[in-house]
Amino acid sequence: MSFFVGLKCRQCGHLYPKEVVFVCEYCFGSVEVEYDYEAIRQVFTKAALATRPKSLWRYRELLPIEGDPTVGLFSGYTPLFRAERLAQALGVDELYIKDDSVSHPTLSFKDRVVSVALTRAREFGFDTVACASTGNLANSVAAHAARAGLARYIFIPADLEAGKIVASLIYHPTLVAVEGTYDEVNRLCAEIGAKYPWAFVNINIRPYYAEGSKTYAYEIVEQLGWRPPQHIVIPAAGGSLITKISKALKELKLLGLIDEAHTRLYAAQATGCAPIVNTIKSYAGGPDDDIIVKPVKPNTIAKSLAIGNPADGYYATRCVLESGGGAASASDEEIVEAMKLLAETEGVFTETAGGVTLAVAKQLIEQGTIPRDESIVICITGNGLKTQEPLVNRVGQGVRIKPTLASFESQLADQLGH
Ligand SMILES: *Cc1c(COP(=O)(O)O)cnc(C)c1O
Ligand SMILES: [Zn+2]
Repeated sequence: MSFFVGLKCRQCGHLYPKEVVFVCEYCFGSVEVEYDYEAIRQVFTKAALATRPKSLWRYRELLPIEGDPTVGLFSGYTPLFRAERLAQALGVDELYIKDDSVSHPTLSFKDRVVSVALTRAREFGFDTVACASTGNLANSVAAHAARAGLARYIFIPADLEAGKIVASLIYHPTLVAVEGTYDEVNRLCAEIGAKYPWAFVNINIRPYYAEGSKTYAYEIVEQLGWRPPQHIVIPAAGGSLITKISKALKELKLLGLIDEAHTRLYAAQATGCAPIVNTIKSYAGGPDDDIIVKPVKPNTIAKSLAIGNPADGYYATRCVLESGGGAASASDEEIVEAMKLLAETEGVFTETAGGVTLAVAKQLIEQGTIPRDESIVICITGNGLKTQEPLVNRVGQGVRIKPTLASFESQLADQLGH
């Protein structure tokens, strides 16, 4: 039933059994899930996939669980669609949106990682789950844990958007608002996790959790008819999504489902918190040891991406460089403009993180880094209903009238041509 064989240190290659291991005891490197790709190749075929349910679990051989999935049965398989009107606005030929703003049940791509993490946490026998979060992970852990009947502790920076806080509290977790940055929340959670027997999805079971992000890329490729796009623009917080899109493309190649993927990956961050983008942009060639991610103190409206000391910053940088891609950052002003542009052209209301991604894609196209005649996927990973604060007074106003035809016609005289 299970095709994952164990864990492996990303730094020194030391192998570990399928247990709760997240740092290598030899070199303190992070560990990653290993699979038996030869066995997977026998059963994971396009024909087999065609008959499977449209959720992220259609890729279950490539996910680190042992039994049947038990959490997030309806998560994943979000729409990927051609964005004609946005393409026209950006002056490009072939543009797609991969839209996790409508993810079930909590409207962000975090439903993918949490579905996998909590299924695995239950297999380990945990009855309590927890996370350190910039908002979306909190929403998703709280919701999935509620449905799975697990106790849930959610740790967030105290200054998150109201929409993100309500969208966690509704599931009745223990919500702990920490007076500090996400990086301080995360450090505290590492300490708490060492003392309490809880599954911290992004800490002690992180290797399992992170694998869920691969499904975002499997879907992009499958939904494009098994034709990987030439460019993918990806928002980065901890940098994990970038590394897992890279891994997923390599796996599809290894399994013979696609030919060589020449997909270039681009990291998108807010200018007020761009440690990964800064590292990619300042890399001047030379050995990987020269890649050093300098932590920053976040100051941006894109709070879901506001991780100043990204856990996977080094690996994300490597994946982007190896793909021949690039990076750029967006100001708060550009983020809001991009949120509006996406809504006005494609009818998609994304959160600030989606604004970051689109604003960065726009820059990369204008600079000529992404050629206008090649296929581009923009990763929209969260929903705008959760981050309304930056839009107040920036989206215009409705017209207020009396409930009469006369009032309607006089207030809208200009538009109606009276
Ligand atoms: C968490 C998150 C990301 C980035 O995730 P990482 O894997 O930590 O880089 C992107 N978009 C949204 C909306 C998120 O919540
Ligand atoms: Zn190691």
